[in-house]
Amino acid sequence: MKNLKMYCTNCKREYPIQHVHPRCMLCNEPLEVQSVSQGKIKEGNPLTQTILERYSDFFPFNDINNDLSLNEGFTSLVSSKKLASKIGIKNIYFKNESENPTWSFKDRGTLLGIQHAYSLGYKKVGAVSTGNMAVSVAAYGKRAGFETFILVSKTIPEEKLNPVAIYGANLIKVDGDYGNLYYESLKIGEKQGIYFINSDVTYRVEGSKTIAFEICEQLKYDVPEYVIVPTSAGGNIRGILKGFEEFKQVGIINKIPKMICAQAAGCSPIYNAFIKNTDTVKRVIEHETIAHGIENPFPPSGNQVLRKLRKNGGICISVTDEEIINAQKELAQEGIFGQPESAVPLASIKKLKKQGFLKETDSVACVVTGSGLKYTKVFEKHNLKAYECNIEKLNFFIRNNFK
Ligand SMILES: *Cc1c(COP(=O)(O)O)cnc(C)c1O
Ligand SMILES: [Zn+2]
Repeated sequence: MKNLKMYCTNCKREYPIQHVHPRCMLCNEPLEVQSVSQGKIKEGNPLTQTILERYSDFFPFNDINNDLSLNEGFTSLVSSKKLASKIGIKNIYFKNESENPTWSFKDRGTLLGIQHAYSLGYKKVGAVSTGNMAVSVAAYGKRAGFETFILVSKTIPEEKLNPVAIYGANLIKVDGDYGNLYYESLKIGEKQGIYFINSDVTYRVEGSKTIAFEICEQLKYDVPEYVIVPTSAGGNIRGILKGFEEFKQVGIINKIPKMICAQAAGCSPIYNAFIKNTDTVKRVIEHETIAHGIENPFPPSGNQVLRKLRKNGGICISVTDEEIINAQKELAQEGIFGQPESAVPLASIKKLKKQGFLKETDSVACVVTGSGLKYTKVFEKHNLKAYECNIEKLNFFIRNNFK
């Protein structure tokens, strides 16, 4: 490992870079790798590089094992002038994370976590998740040849189990308080040498930096005014902001976009704290939203997201399920089918423009966090239809029905 420190995001206590437990011994807030202040993007062709190689100056590893990679990252940034002009802002960019190996941005952080586990000599990894992270860690863990443990809640629907099980990881349905499982798994991991790459652990946050790095490269270092991130645990938005901060620190960009933390109205603990202007996120007791991937009622990085947003000048917003479904359809009509979570940024743009927060001169990047095919139950909400016609009448049918 390089000579970088780790420190508590809250009380600033220092930890060694090899440290695995992701939270501070004193205040229980998340730990973070010290920001990189010198570095550049590696020359070469991204088609033949991994994200770990191209941005290696920004990660603490001395040796990179490319066999752990599934060629995650380097996803498209799709510009939509059409939606932008309809809404009345300068431009909208969609960072399409559904192009990752397991169809969500989680693969970036999983690679970083697996690389860290590997560099420390671990043989076992795990995750607590019922969604994209479970799939991602199952895929990468097995590929690396690690004993892989995926802990899910006992009540997980059957259709979510098999996309995890197919990779051959040890899948354990746990009976008990799912909210506690995050902390419980970290304890068990320490006792049994299992590296849990949970939602907002230190190296998962490092992985999300690459979303920011790529946006900078894709926009030729002319970054947008805002980046909107659908937020649950808070690891992804932390990582993206850290990425922009590091690129600014080393002089690759000269401005940091303001971050917008977007949540579903049915479960919005960070938003609630933000509008009340408090420093700590309170657990949401009752919650319901169609965007299950951002339904964490007590986000482990919530307080840190609040701290960072205030420094960065960013804001929080929440949108209803109805607004999410509408945005999902609009996004699909631009050729991008994201899961409901991934439509939250577009729904947020529409709301923020109506509220007068976004201006006509603003450009906004939306993180489309995962693929729409992950949650096909959503089709029920969309009133979709198909026509039917006899082959002899087809010519007539098309001529007469679609002017
Ligand atoms: C995990 C996930 C999120 C939330 O990311 P956090 O780092 O937990 O804030 C959003 N969208 C999708 C599709 C996800 O899988
Ligand atoms: Zn601390």
